[in-house]
Amino acid sequence: MNHSTPVGVHPEEALNHALLVRGLNEHGIYTRVVDGIRIHAITCGWVKYRNAHVHSILGPYFVLLDPTWDDWMPIYSWVIEHPEGTIVIDTGETARSSRPEHIKGGGMNGWLNQHLARINVNETSDLLAQLNLLGIHPDTVRWVILTHLHLDHAGGLGYFPKAEILVAHKEFVRPYAFVESIYPSWFDPHLIGHFDDVGGPFESGHVLTKAGDVVIVPTPGHTPYHQSVIFKTSQADFFFAGDACFTYSQIVSGFVPGINADRHVARQTLEKIKQYCRERPTICLPSHDLKSTQRFFN
Ligand SMILES: [Zn+2]
Ligand SMILES: [Zn+2]
Repeated sequence: MNHSTPVGVHPEEALNHALLVRGLNEHGIYTRVVDGIRIHAITCGWVKYRNAHVHSILGPYFVLLDPTWDDWMPIYSWVIEHPEGTIVIDTGETARSSRPEHIKGGGMNGWLNQHLARINVNETSDLLAQLNLLGIHPDTVRWVILTHLHLDHAGGLGYFPKAEILVAHKEFVRPYAFVESIYPSWFDPHLIGHFDDVGGPFESGHVLTKAGDVVIVPTPGHTPYHQSVIFKTSQADFFFAGDACFTYSQIVSGFVPGINADRHVARQTLEKIKQYCRERPTICLPSHDLKSTQRFFN
């Protein structure tokens, strides 16, 4: 793997590249305290996709023909040490993903995952190792919210046998490109709908906390029943957008590259997120946006 900075790149890109090189070898926890509540962005590892996946609207079989790969992107998990119970949003992938037998029995989806993405998670960047650094035992986590069931979001599920795991009901019944063979044997999530009145562009969602400050909203497109999580604080709303888009810049531009269950619906979702950001002070945090950790502190 060549880690040298390419010549003639924009300084910001060079900075990103430097961060990527560093990040591949280091775990990264970023913590912000808001209203006395600690929120952590945890870099669980790194993923990269073929260029055609990240920068074009070609379908999976054309994407597979592209021999070139984009830069590594972070895989973020988010932890909110909420007074009603610690919340983990997405569980990343685990160090197991480097073993060839990891998605054995995964069928066609397993094969596609193996050929569309490269994942780099080591023993120290694994979510469990980083929760240990924070002094958070997985058994003390009350809720694990999955934005969707893709490997790089659900891979670390096995660490949370005692948590209430929240998955959108329809996402579980009709998952899109998920590798079922990685489910832990005990996996029996709480299947939620989005039936509570939450106002704003999403209209309905699932209010998680008694305080009403953590809300799950439908953000379909990437998968048919993808969901996002909003944490409302006195300073800003933290919008954990999962894979609704690769980067925040897509919300601004409305460009929807990559492989989506429904590109048209994905574009409508981005429009709703954009509207939400217009209506309220919002920090929008897609799971693979390198700049999410910069935006996290704004
Ligand atoms: Zn995904
Ligand atoms: Zn993802």
